[in-house]
Order: sequence, then structure tokens, then C-alpha cells
Amino acid sequence: MDVSVADVWKKVVDNLSLSIGQESVNLWIKPVTPISLNEDTFTISVPNNFFSQWIEKNQQFNIEQILKKEYSKDIKLGYKIEKDISEQMSKVPSIPTHPDIPVSSMIKDQLNSKYTFDRFIVGNSNRFASGCAEAVTKNPGKQFNPLFIYGGVGLGKTHLMHAIGNELKKNFPNFRILYVTCEKFASDFIEAIRFPEKMTEFKSKYRNLDCLLIDDIQFLVGKDSSQEEFFNIFNTLKDSGKQIVIASDRPQDKLEVEERLISRFKWGNTVDIQAPDTETRIAILKKKAAEEGFTVPDDVIMFIASQIKSNIRELEGTLLRVTSFIKFTNTPFTLDSVKTILKDVIVPDENAKITIDKIQQVVAEQYSLTVKDLKVKKRTAQLAMPRQIAMYLARSLTDMSTTEIGDTFGGRDHTTVMHAYNKINKKMEDDAFFSAQINKIIKMIKE
Ligand code: ADP
Ligand code: MG
Repeated sequence: MDVSVADVWKKVVDNLSLSIGQESVNLWIKPVTPISLNEDTFTISVPNNFFSQWIEKNQQFNIEQILKKEYSKDIKLGYKIEKDISEQMSKVPSIPTHPDIPVSSMIKDQLNSKYTFDRFIVGNSNRFASGCAEAVTKNPGKQFNPLFIYGGVGLGKTHLMHAIGNELKKNFPNFRILYVTCEKFASDFIEAIRFPEKMTEFKSKYRNLDCLLIDDIQFLVGKDSSQEEFFNIFNTLKDSGKQIVIASDRPQDKLEVEERLISRFKWGNTVDIQAPDTETRIAILKKKAAEEGFTVPDDVIMFIASQIKSNIRELEGTLLRVTSFIKFTNTPFTLDSVKTILKDVIVPDENAKITIDKIQQVVAEQYSLTVKDLKVKKRTAQLAMPRQIAMYLARSLTDMSTTEIGDTFGGRDHTTVMHAYNKINKKMEDDAFFSAQINKIIKMIKE
């Protein structure tokens, strides 16, 4: 290959990356090799006529413009086609949803048998999500279709998806179930359009399903052609009453994908998973320790649960680190040794030692009240504000849930706590003097 031809082609690729986007370039332009410039024809080699057709239709004009600039004369784009597949392409059937197509070997064994409902600890943060997930396994394609699960990293979305798959397999042994990450879906699709002989396989893989579980759908963002194909698959499955389950790290409206996809993602049922509360974290740690055959002292469990709050994967990782260390070094399993093992993992959290008792005590003192005053049912203005401040501080400085906080204030409802929190929060924003007063109380609590 002529060096200058390669250089010029690189400029074409760079230019197109800017104008048509990286995904299309990866899909259609990267597989192209420049061959030669002969008089005024610039010849490129393409894997098959699917590529030349696409380039001719969509980018020939743009490419010729770039070439014209580079060579300061009119240049025509010519093609050398490595493999003629026109005939094969005309044979790609449109895919019927035949119930009797055997379970393709491609879709076997992608379910992780460890991720089951049995092993999924249910708490306030995920109760609704896991309930709906279980409902899907009893009545697939009927009630919640699609089921859209969203939540932050490491909170159990993937676990729930596999649990649905595993349970469906039990309830409906003949079901064709596919668990796939969105990235895998996109790469399967790219394979299929670049090499149309694979299109049949692709279509049969994704359309002849009874349940499609697609994980991390946020990876569709910025992939236009994959979005389009997913839209079609979604419709095919949904129209024939097949179950679709989607997991995402954000709610539908925050997904920057085509509007029509967003609206379909809202058709069924949407559930979110929140960060687990203390009780749930403790239950998860106990369960995982038991599964690994370890008896972990309660204070150690409490300690780990108090340090790692917002990611269950990290919670597990930390437990594993501790148990492996203990196992391999024969260290005694005590809180002190665990603190040493985790010294460099855990950032000392200045809020960790703040207790609700301390908060109530400091607030009561500040307003010349007793702690009991904060807990009684009376609603006089004199008591209401300090009580709301104490609730606000409990919510900001501890990891107690609003329900737990309500309990420590004489059995008040969690909505009362939320209301107090919002009110004080707003007042702090509006009133600098008040805000300073609260910050002074926070300092005293932390001392
Ligand atoms: P996500 O997909 O939301 O990022 P995963 O499903 O991969 O999170 O969960 C991370 C790890 O935490 C997995 O090992 C999973 O088994 C575990 N996990 C998450 N939620 C729970 C739960 N409620 N009970 C038990 N284990 C959980
Ligand atoms: Mg996941």
C-alpha cells in the first residue's frame, strides 16, 4: 500500500469520526483498507458488498469531498469487494417466531446459577423490586412487561436478573431464556450487520425467545443503529407476549436514547433498588459469611456494615478480604484484628460514632429542653422546631432510615421525619443565621 494513500485515508477516517460519530465509523469504515490512487480514482477494499452499498449510499459524497481537499482535484471513490455475498443476503429470511425452534446452543448457560432468589436478601431498599421480579417468574409476559429495574452500582440488579432467569427455567423448563448484557447485544448486532451471513443466527437468537433479560441498558446510549435494532426486537417480543426484563443504572428519563424507546421502557412496570439500610447490610454479611462457612463475630459484622454503606459488591469484597486474611494467617477473629486488616481500605468516617442519643441530647440542651420533650406527642411550636432539627440531624448524620428515626422520636411516622428534614433543609437554605446555628449544633455533636 502506498504510504501516502494510508495517510490520506487516515484523514478521511478522522474527519468521519467527527461528522458521523465513532460508532458508525467502527461499524462501517474501520474494516475498510485503502489500496491505491490511480489517476483520479481512490480505491478502497471492503469485506463484502454490504459495506460498499452502505458507503455508496451514505458517505461516498463526503469521502470524495475530503479526498478532493487532500489532492486538490476531483477524486472518485472506487471499490474492491473481497467477498460477494449478494446471493447469501437475499437468502436471509425474515424471522418467524416459531415455538418449535430448538433452544440454540448459543443461548445456553449464560445464567449464573449462584444468583437465585434464595440468596437475595430482601430489605426495604429492594423489597418492591424483588417482589415484582418474583411475580414475573410466575406470570411471564403478562403482568409486568417490560419489567424495568434501575439502581446504582453494586445494588443487586444483575443478581435479580439471573434470579428471574433461573426461576423461570425451573417453572417453565422449555422456555428459551436469554440473559445478555447490552454491550454483548451491541457487539452481536455489529457482527451481524458486518457479516450478513451471521444475520440469521442473530435474528434467531434474539427473536425466538420467551424471555429476554438485558442488563446495563445504559450502554445503548450513543449507539444509534443498535437502538434501532433493539427497538425492533422489543416490539417483536412484546407483540407476541414474551417477557422482557431490562436493568439500568438510571431511570428511563435519564437514559439518552430515542424517545420511542423510553416510552416503551415505561409500558410495563418500573422498580428501583436503593442503597441497603443497616439491617439489610448486616443480613447480607451474615448470609455471605455463612455461605463461605465462616462464623463472624457480631461486632465484626456490625463494624463492616457501618463502614460500607452504598455498594453491596464492596460489602462482600470487604468481608472476603477479612475472612481470607484470617484464614491464611491464623489471626484471631476479633474486632481489633479486623480493624487492622481494613486499616487502609476504610476511610475513618467522622460521622460513624454519632448516635441518635447524642443528637437528641445536644439538641435538647441547646433549646433548654429534656430529651423526653423531643419524644412526647405534644405539638406545641416550642417543641416542634427543636424536634424537627433533631430529626433533620439524625437523617443527615447517621445512616438510620426515616422509619428508624421516627421510632426514636416516640414512634412517629417516617413521613413526619421526611417532612421535618425537608423543612429544616429549606430553612437552612433561606436563612443564613439559622444555618449557622445548626452548624454550631453539628460541631457540638461531633465533639
Ligand atoms: P448491580 O448489577 O446492581 O451492579 P450485582 O447484582 O452485580 O449489582 O450485585 C453485586 C453483588 O452484590 C453480587 O455479588 C450480588 O450477589 C450481591 N448482592 C446484591 N444485592 C444483594 C442482596 N439483596 N442479597 C444478597 N446479595 C446481594
Ligand atoms: Mg450489574
